[in-house]
Amino acid sequence: MSNVLSAELKNRIAEKVQECMTRAERYFQIKLSMPTYNFRQRGRSAGTAYLQRNEMRFNLFMLTQDTERFIEEVVPHEVAHIVVHQVFGSKVRPHGKEWVAVMEHIFNVEASRTHDFEVPKAKNLFEYRCQCRTHEFTAHRHGRVKRGSQYLCRQCGSQLTFVKPIASH
Ligand SMILES: [Zn+2]
Ligand SMILES: [Zn+2]
Repeated sequence: MSNVLSAELKNRIAEKVQECMTRAERYFQIKLSMPTYNFRQRGRSAGTAYLQRNEMRFNLFMLTQDTERFIEEVVPHEVAHIVVHQVFGSKVRPHGKEWVAVMEHIFNVEASRTHDFEVPKAKNLFEYRCQCRTHEFTAHRHGRVKRGSQYLCRQCGSQLTFVKPIASH
């Protein structure tokens, strides 16, 4: 398994982001602000859109594991979050009808809330849920929750609640 990001792959991601942004600009007839992105996403999420920062994080492990599907599904998925935020503001739901419309009518991608990629082998991790997705906590963070700390999802703003330990392989 190679986790190296080739120049060719970087170009393809850049092209896909650009293509989606251009489609959205043409559709809404407004100038959108180009998001930045990096490959620091870890755990079970294929990607995350940080709306306030206009930034996307992609999961390099999943990108290298299933490149075509990642570029065709995950990149538009996260760009759609960015577009919805810029066009409709923060009052709309993360995977609400605006997001579905951007995915299906503008990007021509089936709107599915989650991605079923395989995940890297994990040890001593804990599954948490918010209203929009699952999150993976380390034992350290899980311990802080048990001692009373609360965490909010950066995407939907709801509180993360413990679901179950994730079995180590
Ligand atoms: Zn999403
Ligand atoms: Zn959430």
